[in-house]
Amino acid sequence: MTDADEVWGCIVVGGGVMGSATALQLVERGVRTLLLEQFTLPHTRGSSVGGTRVIRRAYREQLAYMADIVTESISMWEQLQDKTGVKLIVPKPFVVVADRTVEGVRSKARTLQTAGLPHRLAGGPALRADFPALHYPVGFTGLVDEKGAQIRADKAIKCLQPEVFIICFYRSLCSQEVFSQKGGVIRDGVKVETITPGDVITLSTSRGTYRTRRLVLTCGPWAGDVLAGVGLHPPLQVMPINLLYMRKSQGEPISVRDDFPCLFDDDSEVGAFPSLEHPDTIKISFSQQGGTDRGHTAHPDRRDADMAAQLAADQAFLKDYVSKHFPDFENQPCVVERCMYTNTPDGNFILDRYPSHSNIVFGTGFSGHGFMAAPVVGQLLCQMVLDLPTSYDVTPFRLSRFPRKTSSL
Ligand SMILES: Cc1cc2nc3c(=O)[nH]c(=O)nc-3n(C[C@H](O)[C@H](O)[C@H](O)COP(=O)(O)OP(=O)(O)OC[C@H]3O[C@@H](n4cnc5c(N)ncnc54)[C@H](O)[C@@H]3O)c2cc1C
Repeated sequence: MTDADEVWGCIVVGGGVMGSATALQLVERGVRTLLLEQFTLPHTRGSSVGGTRVIRRAYREQLAYMADIVTESISMWEQLQDKTGVKLIVPKPFVVVADRTVEGVRSKARTLQTAGLPHRLAGGPALRADFPALHYPVGFTGLVDEKGAQIRADKAIKCLQPEVFIICFYRSLCSQEVFSQKGGVIRDGVKVETITPGDVITLSTSRGTYRTRRLVLTCGPWAGDVLAGVGLHPPLQVMPINLLYMRKSQGEPISVRDDFPCLFDDDSEVGAFPSLEHPDTIKISFSQQGGTDRGHTAHPDRRDADMAAQLAADQAFLKDYVSKHFPDFENQPCVVERCMYTNTPDGNFILDRYPSHSNIVFGTGFSGHGFMAAPVVGQLLCQMVLDLPTSYDVTPFRLSRFPRKTSSL
């Protein structure tokens, strides 16, 4: 049978963390699933690149439901970790600091309180007693979420992607046939160009035509282009983000691994944490959680074009920030990398279905906090496309919360 003859149970477009998590859920439910990715895997072009992501549940109260979603995601990541034998989760306290925007910190503390998660408020000097690398003055308020963690992002995606999962199962003595019978296939280097909805959906791609009964679109920064092709125009803003890796200054007695938490500054939206991919460095960047207009926007195919001015501005600000608050670190980056946020106006995800064709579902707008929640997002997108009851209320994630701007097919 050729690709054009086969009608898949479900096609998932986009081999980032969201598409991979969704495909795995579908495969585990016995749906014959094809995961299509435009680039050769693994690649460094989307939002899921890099070796480290932060897991935290200190959300403002308006988004308090996210704390439960992240809690369940952590246990799903842990199950994947146990199944594959690959260490994915690294416990690491999460700290939010603020001077001007203290009410936001208190709101996050109330979320942790309601969720029953251990936490404490601490001023600058008290923070330094726990985390010797942090230097914040008395006026700063810090919230410490004891149960924060980091995830090894690159390894996590490899464990999610069904074909690699075969290898992981294989290593743990499960037979390849068992997995193949479940029916998961990945094709990379295949760009979806047009989508024709129907009971059987037709996808024209850079490598021929595919047909499927159900479709999930998880296209990250390219979601605007792909959804526009089916007449949907979610309010997405793609932001290339500069990631600066700073080394500890020579001779300083602190330990990057032990004395530095995952940190987010609510005033300046600076995020900093120990890097798992470049040991003995911290990774520091602007960490907008969406909903702000600061920064350079770009089409994802031109991510690195015209970034010189933004990089210079980021470096100047972050150099000053490091000198003030992390003085044991060099304030010049030893490595600079880049990644893209896909932001919505309210910073929250979009999980929805195509209005007139319920067999097409999409997930986008995961901004700077999608990775940790990917297992539950994958579960929800899988449940939605299979018309099953969803394990969480998806109303807050509907596209209809934004003013409508659609053109019908
Ligand atoms: C700098 C930075 C820091 C972050 N920090 C954190 C953090 O600490 N904690 C956290 O939880 N989250 C964090 N995030 C957010 C998280 O990484 C993202 O929300 C998540 O990776 C989004 O995954 P995705 O699958 O939606 O997108 P992507 O990873 O971009 O995947 C989309 C895929 O779709 C493919 N695709 C697109 N169009 C097509 C097409 N037409 N045909 C075929 N394939 C297509 C793309 O090539 C891409 O591989 C951060 C993000 C950034 C940028």
